[in-house]
Amino acid sequence: MPELPEVEVTRQSFASQLAGARVLGVRLGKPLRWPLGCAPESLHGQTLGEARRRGKYLWLPLERGGLLLHLGMSGSLRYDRTHPPPGPHDHFDLWTTRGLLRLHDPRRFGAVVWSDSLEADPARKLLAPLGAEPLEPGFDGAVLHAGLRGRRVAVKQALLAGDVVVGVGNIYASEALFAAGIDPRTPAARLSRPRCERLAAAIRDTLARALAAGGSTLRDFRDAQGHNGAFQDEARVYGREGRPCGVCGTPIRRIVQGQRSTYFCPRCQKRG
Ligand SMILES: [Zn+2]
Repeated sequence: MPELPEVEVTRQSFASQLAGARVLGVRLGKPLRWPLGCAPESLHGQTLGEARRRGKYLWLPLERGGLLLHLGMSGSLRYDRTHPPPGPHDHFDLWTTRGLLRLHDPRRFGAVVWSDSLEADPARKLLAPLGAEPLEPGFDGAVLHAGLRGRRVAVKQALLAGDVVVGVGNIYASEALFAAGIDPRTPAARLSRPRCERLAAAIRDTLARALAAGGSTLRDFRDAQGHNGAFQDEARVYGREGRPCGVCGTPIRRIVQGQRSTYFCPRCQKRG
């Protein structure tokens, strides 16, 4: 599943090239998760602004409104200077004066939705539940502490929920909690302010490293199928059950929380 780093790397791969391009045509394939919400012809002739990201959504501004894109479970966006014929899993083409933006999505949980603005529905409604942006300057221990304070669930699950902080997917949650020395089963509300400071820094650092690694993954994306790759190879606990912790040598443990695997070092990561 594409996570925040992949979405951000995708954005960076086409945002500046497409900014200022004019829409020449739109092609819809099979239905995606939600309908486009406007007549495709109404986009013709409009000039694109620079794509932005909020959580795992991309916002492609147009002269009138914009398109909110989500990659769902299996989607990927491809930017191409030419206009190759669509394959069976290419379900949205935005053809412009500067090339083609194409959504490839075999499982079709992705979406392209027109909205009048980010403050208008459907964009407003889709973005409203999203938590803080971990890579923005405003994200710190205070924000995390305030967000986790009322949570009765374990900190790992509170991170995955995405309404306190966005983008901390399953791999990144395990890795950030390891880096911060926090047991993933710790009740979210019990995390002290200093531990939230360490966790916020660990989340930022983990995502920044994934972003760097995601770049190299995404370059192979055209030919390859997978979204994993470089970052998973650097993981210190994720997928390493039974192997020795790189810090203390204790075997890494795997537990299941909310039907997702969590990996941690029982010695380096503490509850309080
Ligand atoms: Zn350890």
